[in-house]
Amino acid sequence: MIEKIKSLEVIARSLDPKRTAREDLWQQTQTYVEDFLEHLDRQKGYLEAECPKLSDLVIREEGGQMSEVLNIMRTEIDHAGITSTSGRHLGYIPGGAIWVSALGDLMAAVSNKYAGIYYASPGAVLLENQLIRWLCELIGFPSTAHGNLSSGGSIASLIALTTAREVHQIRSHNIRKSVIYYTPQMHHCLNKAIQIVGLGECICRLIPVNDRFEMDTGVLRQQLEQDVSAGLSPFLIIATAGTTDTGAVDPLEEIAEISRQYSTWYHVDAAYGGFFLLVDEMKEKLKGIGSADSVVMDPHKGLFLPFGTGVILIKDGQALVKAHTKEANYLIDAYGLDEISPADCSPELTKHFRGLRMWLPLHLYGLQAFRACLEEKIFLCRYFHEEIQQLGFEVGPPPALSVTLFRYPDPEPDIFNKALLEAIHKDGRYFMSSTRIEGALWIRCAVLNFRTHLQEIQGALQMITDCLATIKQA
Ligand SMILES: *Cc1c(COP(=O)(O)O)cnc(C)c1O
Repeated sequence: MIEKIKSLEVIARSLDPKRTAREDLWQQTQTYVEDFLEHLDRQKGYLEAECPKLSDLVIREEGGQMSEVLNIMRTEIDHAGITSTSGRHLGYIPGGAIWVSALGDLMAAVSNKYAGIYYASPGAVLLENQLIRWLCELIGFPSTAHGNLSSGGSIASLIALTTAREVHQIRSHNIRKSVIYYTPQMHHCLNKAIQIVGLGECICRLIPVNDRFEMDTGVLRQQLEQDVSAGLSPFLIIATAGTTDTGAVDPLEEIAEISRQYSTWYHVDAAYGGFFLLVDEMKEKLKGIGSADSVVMDPHKGLFLPFGTGVILIKDGQALVKAHTKEANYLIDAYGLDEISPADCSPELTKHFRGLRMWLPLHLYGLQAFRACLEEKIFLCRYFHEEIQQLGFEVGPPPALSVTLFRYPDPEPDIFNKALLEAIHKDGRYFMSSTRIEGALWIRCAVLNFRTHLQEIQGALQMITDCLATIKQA
């Protein structure tokens, strides 16, 4: 048996390379990453590609070479589709991926601290809880609030709605009388969340929006009154601080007041817009966010982190814990400690120490860098909004945050603008996406990648000018 163990050990040890072997891999990876970043300026925002060589990398019995892996990564993964790291990415809601976050991820992965439970890694959990505290203060939540760093806004929304469901005790006997209110501009991850957390049988009321795509609070009030007189129980109002389509911010303070009056849970989806609180000018627009019961924010958008970080903040921290705690015999050593563990605030038990990727850039660059970068994006979007009109385009409302809508006036606007969008994708220098609003097709310019500066916006305007000329000739 000892012989067998020893022979297995020889092979097993290949999983744990020595320093010189590690340094070789570091070197190759570092060169790869540096080349990637150096070429970013010249890389297109969007590359159509089919990735045929990926299947060359089948999983084999014998190991392979890093150089082979990197070669395939370069063409088949890193240079295909949307270049989300690029300042030329102006579609959906960009973010970018601040490079030092990757160093945080690397350190977190190497040390593999168990960030789910305080007992297992007090430092990691304290650091994440400090970040949550900072965010609670940023939105104006009291010290009794708590939250969780999730993988993104969608999972954060699940945590919010689970907590809302538990606090309001939505059960089979009352679910069909419980009402949820939101606008057609709500993000679809909340429709998913409603389904997943078992609220699909609630009554859902679509509240219309005004011409700035903000919730019409007059209709909201009327609907609530009507529902109460019909014997229904208003349960949840969902507002958005920065809608994905247009960047609109619902009247948060007014909705807060209505929610108080009818004793509903008040959820604010600030996945896109929340971090604009760092910009003084935007504080007024986002006023009322602190009156919510739950708020979702996405650091992988507004703090420009790599994909994989969302945040849920819940005003009643105890309610969050109560809705997410179950005891297990094998975790008895971890009970009875004062600090709240992430595992008690989330469906996740074991999790990546994802706080480090957020904490590191905030500490290295300071808040001022983020404030300036966010404010710059607001002005860039306003600049685009003005300039695109000079090119003869029709636009949506003045940007509330950093998204603007535009389309070219044509007798057949949807057909023309679809063709224009296709030309933009084919050109690929800058990436933009489209949306349908009340049936009409609009192209969007979303400015939130931290690498988007004046040069990129001017380049995008040039690309649109070129594409427009091509379409008009055709
Ligand atoms: C991006 C976004 C979401 C979803 O968040 P993910 O991080 O993609 O899961 C929800 N709401 C809004 C307003 C968003 O912009």
